[in-house]
Amino acid sequence: MKVIWKAKDFGQSFKNPVLTLGNFDGVHLGHQRIFKQVREKAKEIGGDSIAYTFEPHPVQMLKPEREPFLLLPIAERLRLIGELGIEVAICAPFTREFANLTAEEFVRDILHEQIGVREVFVGQNTTFGRNREGSVPLLKEFGQRFGFAVEAVEAVEVRGAVISSSRIRKLVRAGDVKGAAELLGRYPLLFGEVIHGHGRGSKKLGFPTANLKTASVLFPKPGIYAVWTIHDAQRYPAVANLGWNPTFHDRNFSIEVHILHFDKDIYGHLLRVEFVERLRDEVTFRGPEELITQIKKDVAQAKKILKVD
Ligand code: ADP
Ligand code: MG
Repeated sequence: MKVIWKAKDFGQSFKNPVLTLGNFDGVHLGHQRIFKQVREKAKEIGGDSIAYTFEPHPVQMLKPEREPFLLLPIAERLRLIGELGIEVAICAPFTREFANLTAEEFVRDILHEQIGVREVFVGQNTTFGRNREGSVPLLKEFGQRFGFAVEAVEAVEVRGAVISSSRIRKLVRAGDVKGAAELLGRYPLLFGEVIHGHGRGSKKLGFPTANLKTASVLFPKPGIYAVWTIHDAQRYPAVANLGWNPTFHDRNFSIEVHILHFDKDIYGHLLRVEFVERLRDEVTFRGPEELITQIKKDVAQAKKILKVD
């Protein structure tokens, strides 16, 4: 997938562009349905399939003090969109100037004049333009005026409710990674670089943990999880611990993974962690011995969940 990091002035022309528009945080099953329709339409009319998205997320620009809430860092969001067969991603820098474009200016100047869009697929509650004034009915009006078709794609429902990024965020925050996976169509993820901790895992406990420095995204609720860890294109079963290590009175929040059947120095390497199921809360033990006993139980439980030996 080609990525264009510009709001306009793309320096190229598109062929029969079929486009979708949105933040696509999580690239969940609802987004996936939209991308599929875009891809199929583009194929049918011999056009380019385009995802138009924004970075930073509008809320990050308008309220920078808010805690990280995104499900995915931008690089992974784009990678997943590319995996779904979209040919071009336009990633518009979401600046104040951009936020001030009226719905009409955005459609006329960018979608119509710059891109020459032929067909737009959007979710039913899509908004765009200043103060989110643009809606699907308004987009349809503009479509008639500027000569492009508009398809409102039906939302995907799971367990009787529509899938949305905010519904998934709630589940992840609550530690229900299994529920979140159902709406994402894959496990919730974290990425990070392996950094140095206190060196306690291997020396004191006999369970080394790769400590991660992650991008500023939403973390699952603190606790212990059965996870898959991807290192160097290989998947390993693992147990993750998100929390404050209360048994050792640590002050800093840490994200650590103990990879099963693994023994390599991976400081400085990148890991991807897929959260499968939450095992328990983090608790304070009277000392390392008790903690070790519990970790052994965690490992056994994670093996069962991940169906490995
Ligand atoms: P630190 O406090 O620096 O994280 P640890 O004692 O927890 O130190 O050891 C973690 C390091 O050990 C990891 O960063 C990695 O390089 C290495 N390591 C070896 N085997 C494993 C394993 N099975 N799981 C995680 N890390 C491992
Ligand atoms: Mg560690």
